[in-house]
Amino acid sequence: MNPPPLRALLNPHLADLEEYAPIEPFEVLSARLGIPAERIVKLDANENPYGPVPAVAEALARHPHFHIYPDPRQSMLRDALGAFIGVPAAHILPGQGADELIDSLCRLFLAPGDAVINAPPTFGMYGFDARLAGAEVLDVPRRDDFTPDIEAIAAAAETRRAKLLFLASPNNPSGGWLDDDALDRLLALPLVAVLDEAYVEFADYPSRVPRVLDHDNLVVLRTFSKAAGIAGLRLGYGIFPEWLMRELWKFKQPYNVNVAASVAGIASLRHADRIAAVVATLKAERSRLYEMLASLPGIEAVPGSQANFILCRVVRRDARDLKLSLERRGILVRHYDKPGLDNCIRISVGRPEHTDALIGALRAEDGP
Ligand SMILES: *Cc1c(COP(=O)(O)O)cnc(C)c1O
Repeated sequence: MNPPPLRALLNPHLADLEEYAPIEPFEVLSARLGIPAERIVKLDANENPYGPVPAVAEALARHPHFHIYPDPRQSMLRDALGAFIGVPAAHILPGQGADELIDSLCRLFLAPGDAVINAPPTFGMYGFDARLAGAEVLDVPRRDDFTPDIEAIAAAAETRRAKLLFLASPNNPSGGWLDDDALDRLLALPLVAVLDEAYVEFADYPSRVPRVLDHDNLVVLRTFSKAAGIAGLRLGYGIFPEWLMRELWKFKQPYNVNVAASVAGIASLRHADRIAAVVATLKAERSRLYEMLASLPGIEAVPGSQANFILCRVVRRDARDLKLSLERRGILVRHYDKPGLDNCIRISVGRPEHTDALIGALRAEDGP
């Protein structure tokens, strides 16, 4: 069958993309399962079950200027971020989630035929956005313990002249931290290293944000979606070297960050101490969840997560089948069926009652 002529007008490298697997909206799922939304235990997307600090809703309710376009330079938000992370605002660019910044970096650097390095299993957006930009994605698989294979990355960088390297630390979905020696080695490569710290607030180690100030080839990405609990409002930010900031200012959409996201971000930063307390609660719950998972015969939990989730290998039964059984009980977890993640599920850290419901369900699933 001939393709319709209008379709032939599409950009050829975009026309062959596969559709991004859609996620069933929460309300639709709730209706399908016949379980009220407030009773669903949602542990599938690493959202913060405590939501934003109360000051966010108050600031949004009070804000008088929703009829006015946002500040294209986001000066108030960037100043607040600079004070929070301890680098000059001149290095900080907010985005509509960290996801927008991943896409911006891909479009800024990559033309069809260029290469990027990805270290799967990891966050899916690096490969997705790189392919959108027409680039070739050089997948350098992680080792069995999910640490990146630094020598193989270095070899790929040098032989294939990759322009960008994406690495998450803590990594999603394995939860591991990228150690200093590995980072030093990567920063010596002739490419721009994008270090995604979406979960750094949950780690026992300090952020690498300060290192951007003395490395021209390091970008660090952060977000308000996880620790700050405003995933639905879409707010992230990047810390970039000065030369790259100059390019990004020319390139970015003037109104990429909406006023509500900006107001919510500033309110969150004013109450960073409260967010830190919620993070401490979630970290304590992560330990409890891990101990309970480790006691179950049907689950092999990956130890040492530095993020707000735990990756688990399911033994003795099919992980997809387990995910669907949990779903019928109103408990949502993320299932994977990808290389390096065979028969795995990822469980976000929730409230104590979520852990109890999950563990009770897993015990029942495991029973006669
Ligand atoms: C959730 C997540 C993000 C996305 O952050 P947004 O700010 O919500 O776009 C980025 N990177 C990783 C590794 C994530 O898991």
